[in-house]
Amino acid sequence: MSQVCNPVEFKFICPLPNGLHARPASQLAEFASDFACDLSLINLRTGAAANLKSTLAIISADIRSGDECSIRVAGTDETSAGAALLGYITRDLPKSDEPLVESGSERRTGPLPRALLASGIRCYFGAGVSPGIGMGTPVIVGGITLPAGLDSEVAEDAKREERRVERAMATVRERIKAMLARSVSPAEAGVLKAHLAILEDISLSDKIGELLAQGRSAGQALAESAQFFMSILQKSESSYIRDRAVDIQEICLRLLEEIYGPKFTAASVELKQPSIIVNRGLVLPNGTAAVRRFYDGEQQAIEKRNAALTRNKFRPAVTLDGLRMEVAANVSSAEEVAAACAQGAEGIGLFRTEMLFIGHDRAPSEDEQFEIYKRAAQLADQRPVIIRTIDIGGDKPVPHLNLPAESNPFLGYRGMRIYAEHRELFRTQLRAILRASAFGKLQTMAPMVSTIEEVQWLKDQLAQSQNELTNQGISFDAAMPVGIMIEVPSVAFILDQLCAEVDFFSIGTNDLNQYFLAVDRDNAKVAALSSVRHPSFLRFLKHIVDGVHANGKWIGMCGEMAGDVRNLAILVGLGLDEISASASQVPALKDRISQLSARSCEELLARIMACTQAEQVNKLLADDHRDTSQSLLDSSLVIVESDSRSKEEAIRELIDSLFIAGRTENPDRLEDVVWAREAAYSTGLGHGFAIPHCRSDLINANSIAVLKLRRPIEWNSLDGKPVQMVVLLAVHESDANNSHMKVLAKLARKLMNEEFRDRLMKLSDSGRILSYLSRELEIPL
Ligand code: PEP
Ligand code: MG
Repeated sequence: MSQVCNPVEFKFICPLPNGLHARPASQLAEFASDFACDLSLINLRTGAAANLKSTLAIISADIRSGDECSIRVAGTDETSAGAALLGYITRDLPKSDEPLVESGSERRTGPLPRALLASGIRCYFGAGVSPGIGMGTPVIVGGITLPAGLDSEVAEDAKREERRVERAMATVRERIKAMLARSVSPAEAGVLKAHLAILEDISLSDKIGELLAQGRSAGQALAESAQFFMSILQKSESSYIRDRAVDIQEICLRLLEEIYGPKFTAASVELKQPSIIVNRGLVLPNGTAAVRRFYDGEQQAIEKRNAALTRNKFRPAVTLDGLRMEVAANVSSAEEVAAACAQGAEGIGLFRTEMLFIGHDRAPSEDEQFEIYKRAAQLADQRPVIIRTIDIGGDKPVPHLNLPAESNPFLGYRGMRIYAEHRELFRTQLRAILRASAFGKLQTMAPMVSTIEEVQWLKDQLAQSQNELTNQGISFDAAMPVGIMIEVPSVAFILDQLCAEVDFFSIGTNDLNQYFLAVDRDNAKVAALSSVRHPSFLRFLKHIVDGVHANGKWIGMCGEMAGDVRNLAILVGLGLDEISASASQVPALKDRISQLSARSCEELLARIMACTQAEQVNKLLADDHRDTSQSLLDSSLVIVESDSRSKEEAIRELIDSLFIAGRTENPDRLEDVVWAREAAYSTGLGHGFAIPHCRSDLINANSIAVLKLRRPIEWNSLDGKPVQMVVLLAVHESDANNSHMKVLAKLARKLMNEEFRDRLMKLSDSGRILSYLSRELEIPL
């Protein structure tokens, strides 16, 4: 890989597939910094020179895989330094870019919808935060912009500004070192070390020093320096090096937060018009005609599915055998309450108030909070609204509260544990909730309760606030129900005592599951253990629900487990009084509850709790989710005059018809299953017909969907002819007796018959196609 020209000058070829980006560059710079002599590098492709002791300078030299570079070593210890450096570059550099382990958080990086893939479109993947499709002008959250006021700050004393930068650097350096001292994964350690190297980089401090000398304030010098290095990296032709600009951005943001505190965070993004925030979900920067057609189709499918669910959305959710279960929505603002009610929510099961505190430079005042809770109560229009008192700490930092950095935040100072120290903050919130309770059906609930003493303390505080308000002549609902979240396993063993203290409970499965199974969901190495369907967790839930009911109290569930329709058989079987999920899920949850029998769900739950593995539970649930009452054929699954213009579009249109009819909840994954079959062999039978098919537990009801195309499309058929009629057969994984293959074989046999083909091809009315297929394939409607 490398060859020596002379002891203090040599060349090498960059062996790293992603080039010399921040992590390997920081390791190289760390190694080089041990020598007294000057060490420099030139990228012979571009002529860019770099000080080898500076990570930023190395990154800025834009060294890509295969680039030839020359190294020059000059100074007192040049001979030993040159030999050591050559050894490092030969042996260690190639190993310095081990791939990072992905975090456990779910991220779609998988295949694109086929219609988009076929269009050759460029796209970006990321973690989506809300469902849906949007078209519009994107707002890119990134770059470093000082908020108004700070950008024009006048630096009166250069020395003072220098000290501000130094102090911020020292604090951030100590924080990163403290984080490194904890047991972080090798991947995290690599990133933190790269950040530390950037922070200590001579090029960064030189640049900041240069700008301070020109009269910039500490913040301006930092922001401009960051922008300077980021723009160099962003010019790189390597997308990997371009992406490393975020390392510099991250460090500079931390420094700016240190200098300005919450003032800086608050002003990071300002929206002037309805916008799409790009926090990198799947974003397609150029809407070609094919992309537009695809998303128009998707939007229509979502709308049709929603319209189909409307029939039950404003009715109470009642099982076939009469068990009533309330379906409520989770919100984080008063405005969302109206939207949730419009989706049929029967109340608000969780109002996460911390969102009113996070991302602001100060806590909202009592009056501000009162207005928000009052509005929520009024918008709910006599439906119950459960306001959860502030739940911060852990994964929810609030800079203006100055909570200390912790080595294990999830087991630390979070939820109601901070209330005693921040009494005024809590008192303000309680008063605001109580005052708003006079305007609707408010309830209040505390997060992260682990002991009875906490509950008694909470009730004392509430009583004090009630007394204050009474003395001040301010009205409130004296009977406002008070409850607690069940998120910490300890409370499950004092339910009798807790039931004597509170009115209701809500299970926060997100936290309860991670504490119960001792699994950090963000750690990829253990994430697989974290399943709410683990039999032990389900037995635990049963213990909790039965325990609360035995003491005559009400219990709901507001964690993510409650938002998955496939969990409903468990939730109904448990006998929960309420479930609360995101508003968009409410219609589907209500619809499904009305198809279930509480008695069968109880029986299923008993079988599920006898399972030994989550995988067995998944299978039992998938089998149970299957609807055997529906016919294979249905008029809603026959589409004539289809405008699909490719095989990809045709398959998607058929799958969307299953989604609209409620025969699958997951069209994306089902599409992948159908295409996996297509990859094995083409399903173009010839004579203008294609019969794609699949067997999957993503199918709720065995189905045949038919598409008659306006224009024939290419399908790679056996006879090379384009296809005009597509018949999709989709059956459930547990399809008994392989009836799927029988129907498929019958259909294929029929299609060999010219008369059958001609008849079918000539029919242009969906009703006629349906009855013809029903008769010929002997499938009852
Ligand atoms: C939970 O833990 O399940 C819950 C609903 O609370 P949060 O997700 O806000 O922590
Ligand atoms: Mg929680």
